Amino acid sequence: MSKPYLSLSLDMDNQWSYMKIHGEEGWESYPSYLDIFVPHVLKVLDELNLKITFFIVGQDAAFDKNHKYLRDIAEAGHDIGNHSFVHETWLHLYSREEMTAEIDKAHNIIEKVTGKSPTGFRGPGFSWSPTLLEVLADKGYVYDASTLPTVIGPLARLYYFSTSNLSKEEKEDRKEIFGKFSDGFKKLKPYLWKTKKDQQLLEIPVTTMPVFRIPFHLSYLLYISNISSHLMILYLNIAIFLCKITKTQPSFLLHPLDLIGGDQITSLAFFPGMNISSDRKVLIFKKVMKKLGKHFTLTDMNGHVESILAKGNLKNVTVPKN
Ligand SMILES: [Zn+2]
Repeated sequence: MSKPYLSLSLDMDNQWSYMKIHGEEGWESYPSYLDIFVPHVLKVLDELNLKITFFIVGQDAAFDKNHKYLRDIAEAGHDIGNHSFVHETWLHLYSREEMTAEIDKAHNIIEKVTGKSPTGFRGPGFSWSPTLLEVLADKGYVYDASTLPTVIGPLARLYYFSTSNLSKEEKEDRKEIFGKFSDGFKKLKPYLWKTKKDQQLLEIPVTTMPVFRIPFHLSYLLYISNISSHLMILYLNIAIFLCKITKTQPSFLLHPLDLIGGDQITSLAFFPGMNISSDRKVLIFKKVMKKLGKHFTLTDMNGHVESILAKGNLKNVTVPKN
């Protein structure tokens, strides 16, 4: 019997987007570490014979200095996804016009620079909204990968109602729709969004540990390994075990700083976790990949999408009104 699939994807957050999120001055000049990080990560992935999905930020593709590195990723055979243009974690507040412009702008420049046309999207900081899903479906995107099923669902509901001007009746009306929506949002396994235009969009959540709903992507594992590498392996073993008994094919998330240390990216040496050397991070990454590879067929998001759609039998979740 063939092993279940596990997709690997890396959110290509650049130096400036880390600085922007952390409110560090100087991000406005868009400092970049792609010249250091890209050759590094491509070498590591090549050593492991892995092909993954890189979710690229449009703004990075807009700079000539980055073109070579972004092209190198595509030419090495990796898959390319859309990670927005300006990488704002408040993407969910965008109007339809702003959302459409944002997705289009990122899509066009990423396609132009890498030669690959993204079919999937991940929101910055897991930001999402019904508008986002409809814009992606309108654009013919195959999947969204912006959800992290933890406790975000109830918060989203609270937020939705607190910002709305709905009458009591309208709220009653929406309660059910939103109930279905947030149920969908809590799902660990992939499912199909259905828009009001009857379009479909596959949702592939970033997998959290089944039952416990706690993240186990590489940043977390790295954090635990700082306490004890035995504990990290135990934690990972539990996650693998729970994925297997619940028949969950994981979507496993990576970030640049999971794979490179402050010894190479000196400008971010003061960031949490950057005291760990690149060598140690790569060693841990390889250990984790070896372990995951024993239980799963490691693939990119495209491979994951194909296997999900081939299997069929997906749950449908209605996208609510905005
Ligand atoms: Zn990001």
